[in-house]
Amino acid sequence: MTRFSSRREVLRSSAQLLPGAALAALGCRSTESAAPAAVVSKRVRDVRAVSFVLDATPTLEGAGVSLRRSLGTRALSALDPFLLLDEIHSDRVEDYVKGFPTHPHRGFETVTYMISGYMEHRDSLGQGGQLLAGSAQWMTAGRGIVHSEMPNPDGNVFWGLQLWVNLPAAQKLSKPRYQNVAPDRIPELSVQGAPVRLVAGTLGGERGPVDGISVEPTLLDLRLPAGATFEHELPQEHTSFAYLLEGHAELGEARTAARAGQIAVFGPGQVLTLRSAGAAARVLLVAGRKLGERVARRGPFVMNTQAELEQAYEDFRNGVLVSG
Ligand code: MN
Repeated sequence: MTRFSSRREVLRSSAQLLPGAALAALGCRSTESAAPAAVVSKRVRDVRAVSFVLDATPTLEGAGVSLRRSLGTRALSALDPFLLLDEIHSDRVEDYVKGFPTHPHRGFETVTYMISGYMEHRDSLGQGGQLLAGSAQWMTAGRGIVHSEMPNPDGNVFWGLQLWVNLPAAQKLSKPRYQNVAPDRIPELSVQGAPVRLVAGTLGGERGPVDGISVEPTLLDLRLPAGATFEHELPQEHTSFAYLLEGHAELGEARTAARAGQIAVFGPGQVLTLRSAGAAARVLLVAGRKLGERVARRGPFVMNTQAELEQAYEDFRNGVLVSG
């Protein structure tokens, strides 16, 4: 139930140089931006290079779910403000049906993005329902949520992702909040013929449905036809990465190769470029503002200090994680 009928052709994301980046390219600070941008050659483009590409790690999680973890691993523990990225994709019901029975979270946000199948969720706030294919759930655990996440038991293909996003210290104990976004509320745009689902962030003058998130996230699901190129402008210092869902892609001006099941992490810059290599590719593109704060994490809790982590465990044991 994607919004094919309202798919809009949008202008290619503007890749024109802004004065700040132009001056930075000349070694000037943007705060000294008295000089007009026109003095800079338009050929100078601040394109993000790929810092590295890593394979996702097969991981057993929850009550026995086989998934691929590309972030939150020994090789790549975190990418401030992102803490974890898991992909579950299988047509073998035994790979995922045991799901994620009742468990707590505190201090960060979990983002579930469904491509196929559905996730049944229930929680301590009395909410529940099915996250259907094409939907997104942005859950701000704040001071505490206890919930269960159970994939469809019907044997159909289950394909979903979960991203963990950190909260700034000042919001770690905030009131829990859900943004459940039904499939038809996610704009499906067309960028030079490539269908792009805009879950969070801005693209071609459109804004994704997820709002009020501290790290100003971008979350795009790109389907690039063979040989298609996608360019997107992001705040220069935002952390950004691409996770390859299907196919092969070439990223940045050096055309660094990445394939399905790999994460490609971009360095700083203004313009992000990627193209499908050979056949079509599907790519999850993620970006957000760095928090630059201490991280103390263990299991389902992500705080700033060890003492806060111990408090979270104690509150959970005492049954006051949610109410305390
Ligand atoms: Mn959870």
